[in-house]
Amino acid sequence: MNTIESFVAQMAAVNALVPREFRSGRESRRVAQPIFTRRVVTIAGIKTVKTRFLPVSHEGYGNESYVDKLELLGKTRAEFISRKLKGIERRAHMGIFREMVERKSGGGWQQFFTTKFDKECTIPDNLCIACWNCSLFGGLDTDRNMATFSRIRFFDTYSIEAAEDCIAMEGTEEGMGIGNQVYEDVNKARGRETYHLYEYVKAGTRFPFITIIESPTLLDVAGYLHAVRRADEHGYGKYSANHGKFDTRFLVVATGYPRFSVLDMLQWADEGTLESRFAKREVYFDDLNGSVALFGDEVEALAGKLAEAFDEYYRALG
Ligand SMILES: [Zn+2]
Repeated sequence: MNTIESFVAQMAAVNALVPREFRSGRESRRVAQPIFTRRVVTIAGIKTVKTRFLPVSHEGYGNESYVDKLELLGKTRAEFISRKLKGIERRAHMGIFREMVERKSGGGWQQFFTTKFDKECTIPDNLCIACWNCSLFGGLDTDRNMATFSRIRFFDTYSIEAAEDCIAMEGTEEGMGIGNQVYEDVNKARGRETYHLYEYVKAGTRFPFITIIESPTLLDVAGYLHAVRRADEHGYGKYSANHGKFDTRFLVVATGYPRFSVLDMLQWADEGTLESRFAKREVYFDDLNGSVALFGDEVEALAGKLAEAFDEYYRALG
């Protein structure tokens, strides 16, 4: 067996993603199966900002918005909270899922979802809690008052670069960005009140990240790798229609829990050893079955298995 085959051999069968029938009173509805193995997969990498990025999770003052920041390991850094990563990546994942359904079924995804999962499943307020997306990201079905736990864990991350170097803000060379809220209304005079000022994270800024998938199937892992790339094109943060595009480099995909954290990755970056540690494969994972770690081209080869894994899921749904 080569490394990729050994990795795939540790994944749960894709059948585990097929929802179970759940009976309540007269009704029978489908629900994603709970955690089915004790295994996990860790994915770690670096996200690099390509266009102005506005990680903003709080109200600013008046017409101004400010980038989230945190003092950490001796410097102020831009903060990219895990909730925002999860939200955008979940939507990207659903986009890919629907497209693959349409390609396979030759019809609309709505029909397929209603037949296989009892409803269309829309994020965030009308989740089906039966489909692949709900199985991975979890959700609450308010109609039935039932929930599925998320099998994917995200962690807050912080810029490698210091705030004064990577954030355009008052007092820096660039100053704050200036936007206009009324492009569309040509009759309205553009005055002080229609403009807003915003801080932004500059292109080239890097954020290391770690994601953990529990009870992983090959479809989950390959699908996640594609969802991240799709999310990068869509954009993260405030005004993500125009801003917040990223480039992601996956450094490792491995079975087991990581023996390092985002903080370690920041520390390694500050010491200048982040990339070389992964290049030399000097990163470790705890897996009772013996960790299988994929690097570089092996990660790409794994991502290339998406269509094959999806075919299997599609067949399993019947
Ligand atoms: Zn769903």
